[in-house]
Order: sequence, then structure tokens, then C-alpha cells
Amino acid sequence: MKPPPASQVSAQVAPIHDFARKLQHPDLRPQVLEYLSWRREVARTKLSGVCAPASPPLVPLSINLDLTTACNYACDHCIDWEALNQPARHDELALFDSLEYLAANGLRSVILLGGGEPTLHPAFSRVVRFLKELGLQVAVVTNGSRNEVIAAVADAFTSGDWVRLSLDAGTDELFRAMHKPRSADLTLTAILKSAGQIKSTNSELSLGFSFVMTWRGALRHDIQVLENLDEMAFAAQRAKSAGFDYISFKPFLTRAMEGAEVMSPDAALEAHEVLLTRIQAQLTRATALQDDAFRVVESTNLRVLIQNTWQEMTRQPAICHMQAFRQVLSPLGVFNCPAHRGVAKARIGEAHDWAPQDGVAKATSATSALLDSFDACHECAEVTCLYHGVNHLFERLIESGQDLETAFPEVAGRRDSFL
Ligand code: SF4
Ligand code: SF4
Repeated sequence: MKPPPASQVSAQVAPIHDFARKLQHPDLRPQVLEYLSWRREVARTKLSGVCAPASPPLVPLSINLDLTTACNYACDHCIDWEALNQPARHDELALFDSLEYLAANGLRSVILLGGGEPTLHPAFSRVVRFLKELGLQVAVVTNGSRNEVIAAVADAFTSGDWVRLSLDAGTDELFRAMHKPRSADLTLTAILKSAGQIKSTNSELSLGFSFVMTWRGALRHDIQVLENLDEMAFAAQRAKSAGFDYISFKPFLTRAMEGAEVMSPDAALEAHEVLLTRIQAQLTRATALQDDAFRVVESTNLRVLIQNTWQEMTRQPAICHMQAFRQVLSPLGVFNCPAHRGVAKARIGEAHDWAPQDGVAKATSATSALLDSFDACHECAEVTCLYHGVNHLFERLIESGQDLETAFPEVAGRRDSFL
């Protein structure tokens, strides 16, 4: 079967989630072509019953780096709740060795986030500076509680890097009720003020306000999550006034019993149409605030929720090819995907497995093995997967006999290698 052009795969997704296009960039594409050729050979040898060829290095192009599982908030809507505040720690030497090895062998970008608040780690600033010395693109997702720590290292960031604050509210009252920060002084107003220091230290850095939309009926297991939909437009106004470059809206996700991150709009107490009407009204007011210096970003999940096509993105091919290009490095181990952070069957290995022993990292062979043993069709059957389109595209490219150079052409332009 002839694969659809990559541009068709990109049609539904927000530009930041246009992974097919990102992977066509001249900096990333050679690694993708090498991978696709190898997978074709693996498929061919399986059919002919001969030994499969050895894998290429399989170093991810982009990682989510979780520095710590510690967090100073207690958000009811936290997707990583079960993995928070664990005793596991990175071995710092192994962490720096891993990052150096990865960068020397293909890694292009690192997002510091997940499963805890990255700025709480004592080596946060050293890690950021080290990553920038390695020539990597760097992004930080933070809860905003320690903006002064980010401001102190903001000079190291370069154009294309970003910092995104997960704030999810427009008023101090709702912000505190949703996030339950340990410090009594932490209000949305205080955080918006201190975020200005980050931007004033380095105007090249893109500063974002992230707003996870929650609705009545949304649950984290049996905990009722507070609704925040009525504060979307007000949050956008405050983000703009505080000098943020953008606000991004995304729907609430929860964890399924098996551990995967899933979207569950059906749990809303209101009828779906009523919920969408309320969201649309807030989005209209928010987007009216857009100008040359401020954008409103609708996430891919929000787009497919509004179009009511989100269930299409839950149909994955058996092999998730993206696990060869994007992984999670956390104190709990290396995982194949942010949607399965901390989940045993998605675990590639120990946190230090990207640190080379005798010049080769153990995680290479483990990644190769997981490509065949992790059945995405079943394990991710409830996940509204942002990588759905690119996984299907790669599957078809591998199956088809088309010339890969032609079927997956180079697309130049500004490099954004965050996956
Ligand atoms: S700040 Fe983030 S990691 Fe911490 S509890 Fe809230 S959602 Fe979870
Ligand atoms: S199919 Fe999607 S959700 Fe599943 S592991 Fe791959 S990227 Fe993650």
C-alpha cells in the first residue's frame, strides 16, 4: 500500500505536535531513514526466516528528562500522582555520562519535566548549562514555584528554547485550590510576577502559560477534580498582561488502570455539546487577545476533542516506532513514552542505562527488544496518542516498497527537534 504523504499526516495536529514534519528536517531525517531501512530489513528477514540484521544505534533524538519525582504541590489533576515523591534518585555522574553519550550519538533536544518539579533538583542549573554546552535544544515545564531558579540560568537558553508554566487557572483562589502549594505565599499573582524575570533575562526564550482544562465529573481515580473552564479567557488575559508569549489549552488527562494516560471527556457531568459550547466560548474570548506578541495555542488533544475525532487517535499500529526517537529518562528508569512514564511494561531499563559501558549503552539493545515486545495496539488502545499519525506513516513506509528518499523527503526550515 502506498503511504499517504507526510503533509496529510500533519493536517490534524498543532504545529508543535507535527512530528512527521519535524522528523523530515535535514538534522533529524538521516537517523529516521536509517531506522526505516533497518525495519524494512527486519520485516523481510522475518518473512524469509533468516536472522534479523543488527539494529542501528537507536539513540533517541529527543528525551523527556525527569530530574526528580519530588513535588511541592499536591494537584488533584496530577497525571503523575502515583509516581511522585519516590525515594529513587539519579546517580549524578551516570546522568551526566548518559547525556553526553546521547548528545554525541544523535540526541538533539531535552524537555525537563514530568513526575515532579524539575527546579527542586539541586543540580537543575548545572544540568541546563551542561545540556546547552552539548549544543542541545532545551525546554522546561515547571509549576512556577521556583521561577528565580530558572531566571538565574535563563541566560544559557537560545532561540527556540522554551519554558512553560503549568498554571491552569485565572484567579489566585482557584490556582491555590487546584494546586495546593506547600508555601502559603505562592499565589498565581506572585508567580506571574516572578515569571517576568525569566523573560527579562533572556527575551529569546519563549515563555508559555499552560492551562489544563478540567470539568465537573473529571476524576483522578476517586478524587473529584475542580473545574476551571470559566477561567480560560481570564487566564489568557493575565498571561498576556504578564508578558507571556502564549497560553496553551489542553484537555484533562487521567491514568487508566493499566497506567496509560487517557482522555476521558465522557466522564463530564454535562452533555458533550454543552461542554464544547462552553469551551468554544472561552476560546473565542481568549483568541481575541492574540496579537504579534501573544498567541493562543490549541493543543492537538483539544483540536480532536472539539472535532470529536479523538477516538481515531487511539488506534495504534502494533509497533510504536516513536519509541526509537523519543524516550523518558527518569530516576525510576528509562521509559518508551511519556504516556507510560513509570509503567513496568514500558520500561526500557535502569536510569543509568544510557551511560556507556565499554563504549556502548545497554539501552540500545533494550530499545530494539521493546520495539518487538511492546504491543502498542493493545497497550495504547485508550491513549489519544499525539504520535498516532507518524507511527502509522512509518508503518506504511516500512510496508511499502517505495523509495524512502522520495517518500520521506527533506523539509528544511526552522529547527524544532522537541518530540
Ligand atoms: S505540580 Fe505537576 S507534578 Fe506537582 S502535583 Fe501538580 S501536576 Fe503533579
Ligand atoms: S503508540 Fe503512542 S502512546 Fe503508545 S507508546 Fe507509542 S507514542 Fe506512546
